[in-house]
Amino acid sequence: MTQLYDRVALIGLGLIAGSMSLAMRRRGLAGQVVGYARSAETRQTARDIGLVDHVYDSLAETVADADLVVLCVPVGAMGAVAAEMAPYLKQGATVSDVGSVKSAVIEIVGPELPDGVHFVPAHPLAGTEHSGPRAGFETLFENRWCILCPNGAELQAVERLADLWRGMGANLDQMDASHHDLVLAVTSHTPHLIAYTMVGVADHLRRVSQQEVIKYSASGFRDFTRIAASDPVMWRDVFLNNKEATLDILGRFTEELFVLQRAIRMGDGQQLQDYFTRTRAIRRSIIEAGQDTDAPDFGRVGPKT
Ligand code: NAP
Repeated sequence: MTQLYDRVALIGLGLIAGSMSLAMRRRGLAGQVVGYARSAETRQTARDIGLVDHVYDSLAETVADADLVVLCVPVGAMGAVAAEMAPYLKQGATVSDVGSVKSAVIEIVGPELPDGVHFVPAHPLAGTEHSGPRAGFETLFENRWCILCPNGAELQAVERLADLWRGMGANLDQMDASHHDLVLAVTSHTPHLIAYTMVGVADHLRRVSQQEVIKYSASGFRDFTRIAASDPVMWRDVFLNNKEATLDILGRFTEELFVLQRAIRMGDGQQLQDYFTRTRAIRRSIIEAGQDTDAPDFGRVGPKT
């Protein structure tokens, strides 16, 4: 594939940065991929497994001469990181991020960046419940969406970043940051909050022992536990930085829950069946769009032989 950047600097070396580095290097999209992480432990792991071409101990050295700098730290840490690296950015460089919320990142990071640097916020809709430098894998972004929120950035810089994400296997879309935050509040943020809550409920229900929760978890609860195992710091920052949209969707969710609660109380089977028929159709359209598998039990088990 065509080399798009001479030097890419990844700030933070966890799941997303690691996957980006593996995908970029395997596909020849960058001349050199370098990285920085705040803890000596993560830097050492990244060196041990050869996650990037070079791991630096300082932000200044990492971003120097980089054509593309990507912030891959929790959203709440991005402002401080941007401020610290700003004096060392190369003129004409592009700064991007992979944060799960976009309006807050634009508000926090944008003002820290010097003139002559292009800021193109991005969000790859791909991830797992694992984190850290060993969690990355090369195919994470394949056939997943990556949303750019260019916010007036120069077209050429936006196109080049879009080509990079396409090169890593992603499908590209662009939208306004506040719309992104609302869409993600529906499709990702509120579902995570509900999963965290459901696992919390099971934990508090002393009449159901921990042993039973684990033993019988196949009945739906297991999928909640997978989501609820996601990184606590990352998700804390998502909710603190997408407050409005999450609270809006949570309000709607609570109203719908009351409707279903009432249908159960009143024995209104027709209402429940109609509701579940609509939701089943949504599941089918996700499979048709290639965003999940149709295999039984989400592909965990093969057919019995
Ligand atoms: P991760 O695996 O936990 O890695 C986070 C990295 O950020 C680590 O290198 C960590 O350094 C560093 N870091 C944490 N707090 C920091 C701070 N206060 N200052 C400087 N560095 C700090 O996280 P990830 O899953 O790759 O997520 C990174 C970003 O991608 C987040 O903004 C998240 O919203 C976004 N994102 C995540 C997913 C997902 O499913 N995971 C999907 C899309 C987007 P140490 O290791 O040294 O602590």
